[in-house]
Amino acid sequence: MRSDTHIAAALVIERGGADEAPANDTGTLEIPGETPAEEALALSRGARAVDIRFAKFSDGRGFSLAAILRERGYTGSIRAVGQIIPDQAGLLARAGFDSVKPDAEGPQGRWALAHPGSETAYQPGPGASAPSAFLRRAAIARKRQVERLNAEFADASPDQILAAADLFEGRIAMLSSFGAEAAVGLALLARSAPDVPVLFLDTKRHFAQTLSYRDRLAAHLGLKDLRVIEPDPAEEAEQDGDERLWRRDANACCDLRKVRPLARALNGFEVLITGRKRYHGGERETLQPFEFDGERIKVNPFAAMGAEEVAALYRELDLPPHPLVAEGYPSIGCWPCTAPAQGGDLRAGRWAGQDRDECGIHRPLGEGRARYRLI
Ligand code: SF4
Repeated sequence: MRSDTHIAAALVIERGGADEAPANDTGTLEIPGETPAEEALALSRGARAVDIRFAKFSDGRGFSLAAILRERGYTGSIRAVGQIIPDQAGLLARAGFDSVKPDAEGPQGRWALAHPGSETAYQPGPGASAPSAFLRRAAIARKRQVERLNAEFADASPDQILAAADLFEGRIAMLSSFGAEAAVGLALLARSAPDVPVLFLDTKRHFAQTLSYRDRLAAHLGLKDLRVIEPDPAEEAEQDGDERLWRRDANACCDLRKVRPLARALNGFEVLITGRKRYHGGERETLQPFEFDGERIKVNPFAAMGAEEVAALYRELDLPPHPLVAEGYPSIGCWPCTAPAQGGDLRAGRWAGQDRDECGIHRPLGEGRARYRLI
């Protein structure tokens, strides 16, 4: 039996006994409750679920650890495992746990009595997450921080904005498509913050030239921490068995191959650097150096850069161009959804003929995905 219910301020109580991971659950991390917070935060990055093990019910460090993970932006599922007793149910929920799997099964009714909002199930629902007060408080703090940073860095250069990324040391990653303009942002990052992880979404629909360019450019720039993010194989098999989802429903395809894999990879990261620029047009025309998407801070150090500046930096830094640029592709994504383009509209070749110009990974969470709508 499996509960798919999204838990709102409730706690899923699982039966005790041998652990049996859900079939698709490839990213669960188990850490002891006494793990130092910084170590737990580092380990949780990219994990879609965290189990915090309580060695004794009288040791409260696991509660603090969950609360810190929530406050620092961990949005995956957190489960308490081990020596937990029903009297602690309310505390678990307040600390940001989604579910509990006690060693001793005990009467399920006692848990329901201790925390009336609880539900009982053998496994937590996939994607269950805790809309706890901790997440909400963290979101409000981030929104305010972004307002302050935008006021401070309104006229700053890309290097100055990237330097400000130091504020988020250890909690920040950069997203790169290794497309037509990616080398500039990556080169500036490699110069000012070489330890920041670079995330590449391998949709399995990239041009072969993009994959070889990615490897060549990463070696050329000496990128230290390139992470290749792939779609979930089980989700792929279920939703795109015929490999034509891009043709039937591009939104669903981007969701499967970009939005969800990125969301999983970003667990534990609070901040994401993007390469978007205002001159790309569309929704990007009003980009600010910092934005809050309802969950994370996005840093857009190159927002104000123009096409001439990008071209000049390619020459000045002696950067290799993406091989498809010479073939008329000014913006490069997946092969089924990218065509050559001419004229001023740089992204005209992306989803040409369709009513879309973004894949959804940069969509504000307020648009149907937000846990909290902040006003
Ligand atoms: Fe699928 Fe096209 Fe989106 Fe790539 S860009 S994930 S192929 S719909």
